[in-house]
Amino acid sequence: MKRLGRRLLSILRLRCPRCLDGKVFAGFVTMNLCCPRCGVRFEREPGYFLGSLYASYFLSVGILTVFYLLISALFPHWSSLQAAAVALVPYAPFIPLIYRYSRVIWMHIDWWGKPDAEGKTTAMESSERCR
Ligand SMILES: [Zn+2]
Repeated sequence: MKRLGRRLLSILRLRCPRCLDGKVFAGFVTMNLCCPRCGVRFEREPGYFLGSLYASYFLSVGILTVFYLLISALFPHWSSLQAAAVALVPYAPFIPLIYRYSRVIWMHIDWWGKPDAEGKTTAMESSERCR
């Protein structure tokens, strides 16, 4: 249980799935190639982050549903299509956050399924790639 709590906290803090401490993002939407702490390469293989689309989908649907229900409650005379279209406006600022969290959530889920598989790099390799 303590491990799960630590992992969830590292997801909230957008941290590395291996050491749970290194920052995944160097900038607002710029990712580090490797973990600055443990040196693990974040993109395990080409196309690796396609899996983050699943997390992105569920995060987006959750947020959009909340806005849709709020707008539908505030403006009951509007059609569903109008409410859905207007719900996109307050949703838009969340897009960068969804991008960041979907990648980190995907990496943690993948890491949970197969730790230290393809993504493990030696200290030498990681220092060459990360610095
Ligand atoms: Zn790390």
